[in-house]
Amino acid sequence: MAPRRESEHSNVSDARLAKMVAESDLPSLLAALAHVCSAPDLPGTGLLLDQAKHHEPQGGWTLDQQSHARAIALGALIELRDAGWPAAQKPTADGVRPIMTWMMSREASDDYVELLLEELGDPPADLRAPSWSAADIAADRGLRVAVIGAGMSGLLAAHRLRQAGIDVVVFDKNADVGGTWLQNTYPGCRVDVASHLYCYSFAQRDDWPQHFSTQPELLDYFREFAADSGVLPLVHFSTSVAAVAFDDQSATWDVHTVDALGHEATERFDAVINATGQLNRPKLPDIAGRDSFAGPAFHSAEWDHGVDLVGKRVAVIGTGASAAQFIPIAAEQADQVFVLQRTPNWLAPTLDYHSDFPTGQRWLLNHLPYYSQWYRFWLFWRYAEGILPSVKVDPAWDGQGHSVSEANELLRMQLGMYLGLCFGDRPDLLAKVMPDYPPAAKRIVRDNGVWATTLKRDNVHLITEPIAAIQPTGLRMVDGSELDVDVIIYGTGFQASHFLTPMKVTGRHGVDLHEQWDGNARAYLGIVVPNFPNFFLLYGPNTNIVVNGSIIYFSECEVHYMMQCLHHVLTTKARAIDCRPAVHDAYNERIDEGNRLMAWGASGVNSWYKSDSGRVAQNWPFSLLEFWQQTRELDSADYELL
Ligand code: NAP
Repeated sequence: MAPRRESEHSNVSDARLAKMVAESDLPSLLAALAHVCSAPDLPGTGLLLDQAKHHEPQGGWTLDQQSHARAIALGALIELRDAGWPAAQKPTADGVRPIMTWMMSREASDDYVELLLEELGDPPADLRAPSWSAADIAADRGLRVAVIGAGMSGLLAAHRLRQAGIDVVVFDKNADVGGTWLQNTYPGCRVDVASHLYCYSFAQRDDWPQHFSTQPELLDYFREFAADSGVLPLVHFSTSVAAVAFDDQSATWDVHTVDALGHEATERFDAVINATGQLNRPKLPDIAGRDSFAGPAFHSAEWDHGVDLVGKRVAVIGTGASAAQFIPIAAEQADQVFVLQRTPNWLAPTLDYHSDFPTGQRWLLNHLPYYSQWYRFWLFWRYAEGILPSVKVDPAWDGQGHSVSEANELLRMQLGMYLGLCFGDRPDLLAKVMPDYPPAAKRIVRDNGVWATTLKRDNVHLITEPIAAIQPTGLRMVDGSELDVDVIIYGTGFQASHFLTPMKVTGRHGVDLHEQWDGNARAYLGIVVPNFPNFFLLYGPNTNIVVNGSIIYFSECEVHYMMQCLHHVLTTKARAIDCRPAVHDAYNERIDEGNRLMAWGASGVNSWYKSDSGRVAQNWPFSLLEFWQQTRELDSADYELL
């Protein structure tokens, strides 16, 4: 990031300002200017955001509307510069509400305003940091907490625990921090959530190089965070947690670990936080003869960089979000690539998916107060909350399995048009890539046109014939044809619904977590499970989001709630707290009902969102706001004190 130069800031010419405006995100820019100029009516120019186009760049405005918006923004920026860039008002509820209402095209509720104020903050304040310290509440009681996993959620939990003065030890099976961003090194790996959203609210960066961060960039971010936050020295690397067991007598947890050399150890803790995530155990397909293949074969999350694809015939099994990222690169290297597709993806057109962040916009992030916060809010609204209505089931709608509501049908038509545009010249491919299930029943994959370009290459072959078996030379298909290949790459996803495997977790009175779950992982708020006192899950059951909100937002909510639980333990002088089964059960009934009314629950299509029994075990069916509301305050009635 170029160092900020004040002289440049104050003397910036009209022409340069115009360049910044030209490269800006207009809805965010107008919002920031309305905020900075204390003129909530600034955007009140007839440029109302059209909700149906929230997922489109620049709010889906026409070119005329965009130039009108640019003229307003440039005028306001010139005035601000001429006035010497007066200090902006700190955000207040009354100040931000009209701007939010304008951005959302609907009245911003009090809760939403409060949530946004937390996000907007007053940089560099961390408004979600615990406001208490363990020593102040119970000086004589040293709480010791184990965190399992040093990925995004585990690092966050350890940081918050440290902020509250709680003794924390982190265990990770890997040799470095980063979790999923350490393990997934396949070519082309990047996040499909906008960079400025996919970062902690209190550690935002203005200098993300690209709109959507690459895996190395994210790994650096988490490494830097681990070092800067002081969590890094607390991590025991290359140490797997094999088992955790609750001791009824002392109400503490024994954590059994095995290090890389096979040394076993047991340590005692007051609480355990599982931050192993949902997508960390690769799933290999159950295809006959899988182990008989004579050549190299590997999973996307265990990419074998020692295998040179140049000149090879490569079969890729799976076409999910991971495969969609690495196939285009493999196709540039390999002689032939055979793409084995079982179910096609809906593609979300994202022109800037691989693009650098424009310098003009970066200038605004650095110089225009609150632009970065409004930009983040806009991403939050545009990518997640704003799209939610179009993936909800309307029970009265008969979409014949293709859509779940009128809004979903509209989305299906928009996404279908995009596929039509991409594959219009190849009806043979179009027929194969057009999904027949409702949008958002499976993860929608981002695309900037590269999927079509790749599938149209002469050396790429899209195969939809099911695989019958794997044999030493390659694949045998159900129709009896054979496909000889040199390399097989599995883009077949993760054992997402097998939470906490292969760890053994024993709770009160010797109850085994996996036996209690019986293949159907459930938790209250996705965080706590009855019979497992002071045991907290991050990114646990039903905390995944389908439309592209940031999972980091969820982790922040979960960690906030977990911290309240520990606060409750300290203030009540309890040894531990255990969620009441009735609370847990009622909550899960509501979750199941909610998921039945979402595209992913209503559709019978395959997806990693469901457990083997077909229950949606992964997804949160409500708004992001609602998860924040539910995790904001602990209700002591939900818990039994031990
Ligand atoms: P995935 O979405 O579960 O995709 C697995 C693919 O393998 C699917 O195409 C699936 O087909 C296919 N498959 C599985 N078993 C098969 C079999 N026996 N025969 C033929 N095909 C089989 O896994 P993923 O692509 O690794 O992505 C998982 C999740 O990770 C994503 O949804 C996303 O949340 C996250 N992710 C995100 C990014 C990103 O941010 N850009 C990148 C990668 C992953 P079916 O569809 O028919 O089941």
